[in-house]
Amino acid sequence: MNLLSIIKNKKSKFIMISSAVLIIASCTTAVLYSFFSEPSYSGPIEVFNSHEIFKSEEEYNSYISEKVALKGIYFEKIKIESGDNFWKIAKDKGINIDTLLALNPFWKSINASTGQEIITSNQKGNLCFVNRKITDKEALEIFESEPEKILFSDNPIIVTAKNKETKYFPVFVIDAKPSTDNMTESMASQYTLREKFTSPLGGRFSSYFGGRVHPIFNRYGFHNGIDIAAPYGTPVGASCGGTVQSTGWMGGYGKAVIIVHEDGYKTLYGHLSSIAVRPGQTVKPNQFVGRVGSTGYSTGPHLHFTLWQNNKLINPLKVLW
Ligand SMILES: [Zn+2]
Repeated sequence: MNLLSIIKNKKSKFIMISSAVLIIASCTTAVLYSFFSEPSYSGPIEVFNSHEIFKSEEEYNSYISEKVALKGIYFEKIKIESGDNFWKIAKDKGINIDTLLALNPFWKSINASTGQEIITSNQKGNLCFVNRKITDKEALEIFESEPEKILFSDNPIIVTAKNKETKYFPVFVIDAKPSTDNMTESMASQYTLREKFTSPLGGRFSSYFGGRVHPIFNRYGFHNGIDIAAPYGTPVGASCGGTVQSTGWMGGYGKAVIIVHEDGYKTLYGHLSSIAVRPGQTVKPNQFVGRVGSTGYSTGPHLHFTLWQNNKLINPLKVLW
């Protein structure tokens, strides 16, 4: 054996050993990786509501504002200042009240209180959590939205409870409505009622119900509905589907329409300039019933809207917020 062949032999032994080590190492890495990495795309998908994950509103607010990262969306924790309300905040942020409800699942009421901390975002939509990574196909099946509107985060938030770590993956669905499953009981019932009715003039508004000084008789009295100012001739829509009970001149209400709805609800549309429906007719939500006018006791064109349930007056703002 000459020197050259000894060197050759040693070299090939070295190559053989080192490649064996390399193969073992890479196999081990693969095994270890699959063992320790996420159980991605396997097992049933569970969608969680925030009450199942977070113990308190404070804990929820911190996690969302500090740990949830989704492409193009940011969540911010802000403090309610004196004079603020949720509609104003929603408007300032370019979102809507539905989004604020989706982002604040611990709310019990829609009345803001000074010093209260809430979560806002820069996009309209709904935030929820799933137990594992999801494919595009699964996302479509679960959230029933266009794929580009479903934003999924690969970075889970990790919540430790009873010494056990659980991972929750945030999903934001742009333009999706909040789910009543993700609300407190009291908020869910207020929201369900709100979803039943729409504004007779489109959009949401605020006005008053209760004691006031009458604009014509100049004396204090009870105003049994709300007034919505609108230009003469503006179309008025049914606030909810139902059956027209009566139409025509109704004293101080002038030309008016009364519609009865499911669950004992009844609505009145007053001071109309013209009426487009007749008694006994069924109407769909938002169906055209007449036009804004100033008939009856009225100082200018506006719609008077009254709501009853089982013949008891209800503040319309309870359903039209
Ligand atoms: Zn009125």
